[in-house]
Amino acid sequence: MPKESRKVYADAASTTGVSDAVLKAMQPFFQTEYGNPSSAHTLGQQAKAAVSQAREMIAAQLRCSEDELYFTSGGTESDCWAIIGSALATTKRHIIVSIIEHPAVLNCCKMLEQFGYRLSYAGVNADGQISVEDIEKNICDDTFLVIAMMANNETGVIQPIDEISAVSHKYGVSLFSDCVQAIGSVSINLSLQKIDLLSISGHKICGPKGTGLLYVNERCKIAPIIYGGGQERGLRSGTENVAGIVGLAVAIQQAVCDLDKNTVRSLRAVLHDCISKIPYTTINGDCSPTLPGIISACFDYIEGSDLVRYLNEYGIFASSSSACSTNSGRPSHVLLAMGIPYSRARGALRLSINGNNTLQDIKYICKVLPLAVQRLRSQNPEYIRLFR
Ligand code: PLP
Repeated sequence: MPKESRKVYADAASTTGVSDAVLKAMQPFFQTEYGNPSSAHTLGQQAKAAVSQAREMIAAQLRCSEDELYFTSGGTESDCWAIIGSALATTKRHIIVSIIEHPAVLNCCKMLEQFGYRLSYAGVNADGQISVEDIEKNICDDTFLVIAMMANNETGVIQPIDEISAVSHKYGVSLFSDCVQAIGSVSINLSLQKIDLLSISGHKICGPKGTGLLYVNERCKIAPIIYGGGQERGLRSGTENVAGIVGLAVAIQQAVCDLDKNTVRSLRAVLHDCISKIPYTTINGDCSPTLPGIISACFDYIEGSDLVRYLNEYGIFASSSSACSTNSGRPSHVLLAMGIPYSRARGALRLSINGNNTLQDIKYICKVLPLAVQRLRSQNPEYIRLFR
């Protein structure tokens, strides 16, 4: 097939470009309104007001109090702070964590294990949904935290967070939910939902990289992990990233205002239709509710990394699983946890789209992908032996 000059970005779960509105809102804070919010003079106080306004905007979207929001440097910091900060604020030593969490969560928990904390893992079913039973059966007097993401970054599977919340709170255990992929696609109302800690990242929703948020419910105790000048009510020191915080607030507002994501959902349906027609292919988590923009599939007899490279040559940017685990060379821990055999999980591809993608983009993927799969399979000796 002749290569085209077309470029299709289908990796929105890895990162996104900032929207025009986000860029416009951030711009003044780089060169004109560059004050430090801790300074007493006018320029500083203007920056402080911008941070307060951003906090108010986000609190209104998430239906929580402004005092429950803390700005961070991104999803990874928010995740690590939620876990370590909770551990430092209690004498209890047991955490229950779902097996499909992002490495920011899993590796942070493993670090605590080295310091004597005990971990129990909650598994998932074949459709990628966290087992609520696993959580309940592992809760004990020493458990201080249940960790369950709101939607998975590799499969897009939306998790039964309200059920998980009910079980955790039945035993008086706090719930931390990584909401990095879910925000803007799953409805969040913190005045109704009982979630104690929740993490958000800016760059997945057309906000700036290096920005994030941790929501800490007023009932919940958390210790700081970053010490310094006492910013963020003494819990997260460091001069505020004013431009980033302003951009994050606009990104969250835009993402939440377009919660239905109907256009993205209909584009995903086109991809789904195309992929389901490719033989020896499994769509991961296909029986579960999924985010509108993520579709994950395993193509037998090929390596996901080869497929990603092939698509790249045709200007299609995608991932084999998550951007963070792509370089490990190992199949995704999420797919293995779903019981997908190792050999099949090696053939994983994640396409993730957002409102910037067009039907033309999707049609182009649907033209290239089946041919790419066919071409790569035709080079696989096992496939040749079985099917030629
Ligand atoms: N949690 C999830 C579910 C993610 O998908 C990611 C990023 O891929 C992160 C956390 C980390 O966020 P950040 O890149 O802002 O550190």
